[in-house]
Amino acid sequence: MTTTTSRIPGLHRLTPLERLHKVAEIAGLGPEAVAHLANTGNLDAATADAMIENVIGTLNVPLGIATNLIVDGQEVLVPMATEESSVVAAVCNAARQCRNTGGFTTAMSGSLMIAQVQLVGVSNPEFARLRILEHRAEIEALCDETDPVLRAHGGGFRDLEVRVLAGRSGPMVIVHLVVDTRDAMGANAVNSMAEAVAPCLAEWTGGRPYLRILSNLADRRLARARATWALADIGGAEVRDGILAAFEFADLDPYRAATHNKGIMNGVSAVVLATGNDTRAVEAGAHAYAARSGQYRSLTQWEMDADGNLTGTLEMPLAVGLIGGATRSHPTARIALDILGVSSADRLARTIAAVGLAQNFAALKALATTGIQKGHMALHAKNIAVMAGAVGEEIDQVAREMVAQGRVRVDIAERLLKSLRG
Ligand code: NAD
Repeated sequence: MTTTTSRIPGLHRLTPLERLHKVAEIAGLGPEAVAHLANTGNLDAATADAMIENVIGTLNVPLGIATNLIVDGQEVLVPMATEESSVVAAVCNAARQCRNTGGFTTAMSGSLMIAQVQLVGVSNPEFARLRILEHRAEIEALCDETDPVLRAHGGGFRDLEVRVLAGRSGPMVIVHLVVDTRDAMGANAVNSMAEAVAPCLAEWTGGRPYLRILSNLADRRLARARATWALADIGGAEVRDGILAAFEFADLDPYRAATHNKGIMNGVSAVVLATGNDTRAVEAGAHAYAARSGQYRSLTQWEMDADGNLTGTLEMPLAVGLIGGATRSHPTARIALDILGVSSADRLARTIAAVGLAQNFAALKALATTGIQKGHMALHAKNIAVMAGAVGEEIDQVAREMVAQGRVRVDIAERLLKSLRG
């Protein structure tokens, strides 16, 4: 397959099917690939076309259900969209092991988002800072007029902050509009407010507004989850001490912390994606928050309580919504929200935090005991079997045999497949 040109004028004006044929011609795709892409599954082409640009198909990711979770006393089934094996099983296992102690207790610091306006070319920035703060009432009115629907739902402007940053080419005045976005993630809502306020800021300060956009470091929208794992339920003191040592390693070492937090995000991003929320927004917020001390650290904390049980906590920004973005436009996301049974963005974020904590427990337990590969093997073996060309029942047969032999490799899968087929 060779692409002859990447210049396709007017591609955006075609229908998804027309685009697909055009791209197939240029990229040299065969009829099977075209038929595969033309089948958009349970996200119809027209809906997909309204979501992003230049649509030619859809990409299905498995949707699994995490069981066993009790969040704030309620039993919840959690839909998770991920391509990675073992992620869903890990949550089920971790959640089962803390059912005896009541599951997860969660909370939320609020639903505040920050929009930033950058002003440059202000000759007296400290003077400008105070002038802006004096206009708080006008700024509040401007923000709230921008989104009367948000206001009607109890949201809107909450606070104003102004900072002066020393830029290379002179000082910058940075204005923060702190906005309660209620059940919306809020990016569009607060971006519009920043754009509405910027001309006035320019007038009051003589500065020039450049960027007007939200901050993904949503540190006024922290989701919190905590749980206790009884020693008897996790396999004893050795397991607990292994988990505590693993946590300490992550909290001291950014190389380990990156992988530790990636494990948390395995769970968090899967629920964020399943519910049609913005995975990159949540990920950017999580990692920026993990580095807030100047050193990138663990998003979770693990300790031992007075009775020797293991306790874990997770605190991270979680800007997710029930309205806006793809949460309503993607039909699968709507059903995922129905399964979760959440009626507010706050509840969704809290459930996601519980999932993140569960995921971290499972990963640390596996790492501190049998190692991560053992749990991965069964599904990994299936993937390898498929890579070797196994189809239908052959996949299980080849995978089982590789696991039994303790050797999961594509060359071995090919050999097993050959002998299976005689
Ligand atoms: P949106 O603008 O589609 O919907 C939010 C709006 O819905 C609110 O402004 C309000 O007018 C209305 N609304 C109705 N009922 C509401 C309720 N109960 N609570 C709150 N609002 C209610 O969506 P959004 O949440 O403003 O923006 C999210 C989208 O923005 C996502 O798709 C995200 O990917 C995208 N985005 C993200 C970034 C970023 O993260 N950096 C930047 C730009 C856009």
